[in-house]
Amino acid sequence: MQRRSFLQKTGLTGLALTALPQLAISQAYDYSILELMGKADIELFGDGFQLKKAAHDAFVAMKKAAYSDGIDLKPVSSYRSFERQRSIFERKFLRYTDDQGMEPLAAIDKIVEYSTVPGTSRHHWGTDIDIVDGYRKVEGDVLVPSKFAEGEPYADFKKWMDENSKSYDFHLVYTDTPGRRGFKYEPWHYTYAPISIPMLEEFRRKNIMLLLENEEFIGSDHFTEGFLRNYIQDNILDINTDLL
Ligand SMILES: [Zn+2]
Repeated sequence: MQRRSFLQKTGLTGLALTALPQLAISQAYDYSILELMGKADIELFGDGFQLKKAAHDAFVAMKKAAYSDGIDLKPVSSYRSFERQRSIFERKFLRYTDDQGMEPLAAIDKIVEYSTVPGTSRHHWGTDIDIVDGYRKVEGDVLVPSKFAEGEPYADFKKWMDENSKSYDFHLVYTDTPGRRGFKYEPWHYTYAPISIPMLEEFRRKNIMLLLENEEFIGSDHFTEGFLRNYIQDNILDINTDLL
């Protein structure tokens, strides 16, 4: 074999080896619209929380490691169905509009600072989990960004997660990266990337806009095309870039 042709062949082999796993991953997963939108009856695991098997196993391993370092990784919220998200959204919509007199679109904008439009929550996937440190006594709401800052109750939790979560494939989704749009900084919200990356990929392949236009719940009549376009661009896609 001539050297030139040998190099060409090995070059091609190298390319095939790097290209194939990607291909294999995107073909191996075929998530249905129902599953992506929290409407499927999926198998979940956990004691006091609910995640898909691989995410559950990784979380348990991470919890064990954190425990030996004096941190109690306590799940606050994990899997959430479409129906559950719908009741959260509708309750907030009615509170802001009926009780507080806000305009519907302003109310929706306020809801999507922290809460999702039903059908678009990453919590529908069984891969995402909100976590705090169970060892810390905290007054009032626990999911408050300032409580994770230096000198605050969850500072040690945050430091431990910054240093260790990635070795268990858990990544922060809504980072404090300057200029990031969409959902505000959530230092408690982690995702199990090996499953949620292909799920987001699959979700993007579906026509999210059309799926949302077809949903009927309190407040959904007020979704404009502009709102939905921005929501998909900012809230669904402007996340930690490691997860895209
Ligand atoms: Zn969350």
